[in-house]
Amino acid sequence: MKYAIIVGFGLAGFHLARQLQKQGKEFVIISDGAKGASRNAGGVLNPTILKRYTLAWNGVAFFDHALPTYRNFEEEFDTTIFQDIPILHYFSQLSDHNNWSVAAHSKGLNQFLLPPILQSNRECIQGDLGYAKLHNVGKLEIQKMLDLYSQYLTAENLLQESFEYSQLKLHPDKVVYQGIEAKNIVFCEGFGLKKNPWFSYLPLTGSKGEFLHIRTDKLSSNEIIKAGLFIVPISKDLYWVGATFSRDDKTTQPTNKGKEWILIKLKKILKGSFEVVDHGAAIRPTVQDRRPLLGVHPQYKQLYVFNGLGTRGVLMGPLLATWLFQFMEHQKEFPPEVGIDRFETYFSNPKTQYV
Ligand SMILES: Cc1cc2nc3c(=O)[nH]c(=O)nc-3n(C[C@H](O)[C@H](O)[C@H](O)COP(=O)(O)OP(=O)(O)OC[C@H]3O[C@@H](n4cnc5c(N)ncnc54)[C@H](O)[C@@H]3O)c2cc1C
Repeated sequence: MKYAIIVGFGLAGFHLARQLQKQGKEFVIISDGAKGASRNAGGVLNPTILKRYTLAWNGVAFFDHALPTYRNFEEEFDTTIFQDIPILHYFSQLSDHNNWSVAAHSKGLNQFLLPPILQSNRECIQGDLGYAKLHNVGKLEIQKMLDLYSQYLTAENLLQESFEYSQLKLHPDKVVYQGIEAKNIVFCEGFGLKKNPWFSYLPLTGSKGEFLHIRTDKLSSNEIIKAGLFIVPISKDLYWVGATFSRDDKTTQPTNKGKEWILIKLKKILKGSFEVVDHGAAIRPTVQDRRPLLGVHPQYKQLYVFNGLGTRGVLMGPLLATWLFQFMEHQKEFPPEVGIDRFETYFSNPKTQYV
């Protein structure tokens, strides 16, 4: 009997699988091969909130766990997936200079924000109000990491198919899915959770993000630019630019409106020509209270959920996977902020309005 069936192979499913592998537990992943949020993301690892110059919730602890996790994968697979490059934060108002200085000298944030306010001397960037740098941040090549790991997993460990919820048989101490017996099943479906008959009561609101890939020889591939939107290097002269944020549209269709929004912002910062080579969209698994969703089903103790990675899956995925495993195996509590218990009233009264 397997230790777990994992449904979904984005960042959540990946980190849980790695965790189980390290603990010597057998698992099977079932994922439908759709790109999901992870394969469309910018891949930025940043524990700060640049709109407010604060740390993200639990940001330092997540960061301290994330970087060694990605470095460990690199070592094991003899590859490079994490690029340790700065974020150049361009200011949009003068008053931000002071806010930046205060933040850059405060405990926790001083690990990431470098105090000097710099003047833009780059011809291609219009940044009259200057910029400042973040270090100890960077970019994860999510697609490459997921591809490498799925090539490594045998056909037996990774089934590329849609999970049919009606086929799952629940027994008191195990689950059985199309002949596969497992002690537990962990749902890591991102926004697909909405179709899950056991966990769809959770307030996963979802936020659509659209992005472009552009080609230009004007930018450097050794830095990430944040100027209203992120410009993230992909490969030579190719950049990911995004993203929009919409709670209204829950489709994964790219729209003209989204493209226009990105182009207007991009032209404000980038001088000179560029070519748009791709336009995509995906739904971030965001939650009403902006915290992840981790835990066991209130009624069925073999069913677990790992979701709600929101806008920061790269940062939070590794530590959340550790917390979930410790909880499954040793009943070790994790911070209540991420536990699904906080939505217990939604379970007993599923019609509660939450959006
Ligand atoms: C445009 C955009 C930009 C982003 N940029 C960043 C960024 O720079 N940094 C960052 O940290 N985060 C970023 N994010 C957020 C990040 O992508 C998410 O936090 C993270 O990818 C969520 O991972 P997940 O595994 O929960 O979901 P997903 O990546 O969506 O994975 C879930 C997988 O499960 C599969 N699945 C669902 N239901 C079923 C089923 N019934 N049967 C089989 N398979 C199923 C789906 O097809 C999918 O492949 C961004 C998101 C978007 C949309």
